[in-house]
Amino acid sequence: MNQADLHTHTTASDGLHRPSENVRMAKEAGLAGIAITDHDTVAGVEEALREGERLGIVVVPGVEISTAYEGTEIHVLGYYMNIQDPLFLARLADQRKVRDSRNEGILNRLGELGIPVTMEELREIAGRDDNPDETIGRPHIADALVKRGVVGSIQEAFDRYLAKGRAAYVDPPPRITPMEAYDWIREAGGAAIVAHPGLYRKEELAEILLDGGADGVEAYHSDHSPEQAERYRQLAIARGKIVTGGSDFHGARKGGVYHGPIGNRTVDISVLERLKAAAR
Ligand code: AMP
Ligand code: ZN
Ligand code: FE
Ligand code: FE
Repeated sequence: MNQADLHTHTTASDGLHRPSENVRMAKEAGLAGIAITDHDTVAGVEEALREGERLGIVVVPGVEISTAYEGTEIHVLGYYMNIQDPLFLARLADQRKVRDSRNEGILNRLGELGIPVTMEELREIAGRDDNPDETIGRPHIADALVKRGVVGSIQEAFDRYLAKGRAAYVDPPPRITPMEAYDWIREAGGAAIVAHPGLYRKEELAEILLDGGADGVEAYHSDHSPEQAERYRQLAIARGKIVTGGSDFHGARKGGVYHGPIGNRTVDISVLERLKAAAR
């Protein structure tokens, strides 16, 4: 095998498996490489790099940054940044503050609806201490709602409460633009990729985001159809940009592995050389 899965989450954000477990699963799936791309943090990367060396599988340091463009939440993937770069780490810490206040806003809304979920409860569900480098996200809140019996599934939690426009949805405080995230990633020596354009429900955004200065696009994603993947691949090729892909693995939450199992979407390992070259 010569394939790499370039999009996975761990317990450093809203994934359910430790970074070392993701790497082990990738190895068992026969992959040659795996990236760790947690939301707004690189806290899981070092553990994964160590496990990769131990098992003989390439681990790519990555991140997935939450941004907004004209009211749509856009995710930007970064690869091969210097994960010790002080400015980059400070910028991610700011992102986590925005995320924390968004989370508090959601909990306040839920409280008003008579569902008093607390931050402590979320941490307990996430199974961790209050580590400021790790992020809490909506999937943890969804877990809490399922656990309390408020809803029957994670999907129902999003559909009724947590998705944009639903009962407990809170617009995050001003988020950075995707273009700012590209700059952050590149200033830290990394390559910036538009994550899963098929999830934004505005098809023109793929081109706008790519032409806004990204190094490439995630054409292959667990929630993209073959037709979408082909369209995004063509957009990138026409512009001489990089085509990436990955599962967006988060682990199996009650009733489903979203977005897909490790290795569900992959690219050839040679894509890593292109990412490194773009990362310069
Ligand atoms: P957050 O970064 O805290 O806003 O949470 C984002 C995560 O929630 C994403 O990585 C998705 O996996 C998940 N998510 C977002 N929207 C939905 C949805 N409508 N249904 C199910 N999961 C979702
Ligand atoms: Zn997530
Ligand atoms: Fe995402
Ligand atoms: Fe993701």
